Amino acid sequence: MNNLTVPSLPELPEIWQQTLNWQPTAEQQVKLQRLYELILEGNQKLNLTRITDPQEFWEKHLWDSLRGIAPLLRDGEKDLTPPPHHPTTPPPRHFIDLGTGAGFPGIPVAIALPDCSVTLVDSTRKKIAFIENILPELELENIKTLTGRAEEIGQQSQHRQNYDVAMIRAVGNASVCAEYTLPLLKQGGLAIIYRGNWTEDETTALTDVVKQLGGEIAAIEQFTTPLSTSLRHCLYLRKIATTPTKYPRAVGIPTHKPL
Ligand code: SAH
Repeated sequence: MNNLTVPSLPELPEIWQQTLNWQPTAEQQVKLQRLYELILEGNQKLNLTRITDPQEFWEKHLWDSLRGIAPLLRDGEKDLTPPPHHPTTPPPRHFIDLGTGAGFPGIPVAIALPDCSVTLVDSTRKKIAFIENILPELELENIKTLTGRAEEIGQQSQHRQNYDVAMIRAVGNASVCAEYTLPLLKQGGLAIIYRGNWTEDETTALTDVVKQLGGEIAAIEQFTTPLSTSLRHCLYLRKIATTPTKYPRAVGIPTHKPL
């Protein structure tokens, strides 16, 4: 280890509670702080994130990651909670995070939901190697990692139609994100697309694309971040039919010729 001094993250329990109806336990808070330290250390060698200030890291990486799964943390949101597979058992929750980078939103989600498994995917081997290095220190046993492209993983039988929730943040435009996520979902599964700005016109354009991929737009949530009051959106897509086998298309096509 080196002698980098890392400040403490803010805790802000009342903001977690008010915005997500959830608060980290003491153990989860320790893991979030450790994650912050490990990322700042990693940043000295790898270009992982521009966001290093503790307040900003808390808001843009931790809070924002968990705001996307707020409907799964809150009780009673029947529209967005994946339907139970069996009436007496809780729904199994297999999450996948595509283009996770330094682990967002997937690592905070794995910390918040220890009973769920989270698969982190990135096409850059160095980023996945970084995550694999820090996992033992974070003592997270519910994370799996995978180096690869969303276009390829979406065609592999061990991944296609295998996940309850697919998350994607800052990877491409919404139509590309829909093409990457929907093939990976089981019927009834939920894709969560994290966005900054979003307009009605974009919703209109996306509706058709999502339909082609076997999904529907279940909800679009607009909110402001709690510290800097920046505008954000989350798109929630429900898989309601089998995705045609031609999707996702070959590597690079979804970005070059978005649906
Ligand atoms: N989700 C993270 C990182 C966003 S940067 C965050 O919000 O902080 C985008 C990341 O997606 C990069 O790490 C890049 O390597 C990865 N990526 C881009 N296209 C991809 C693809 N087709 N399949 C897998 N990963 C991809």
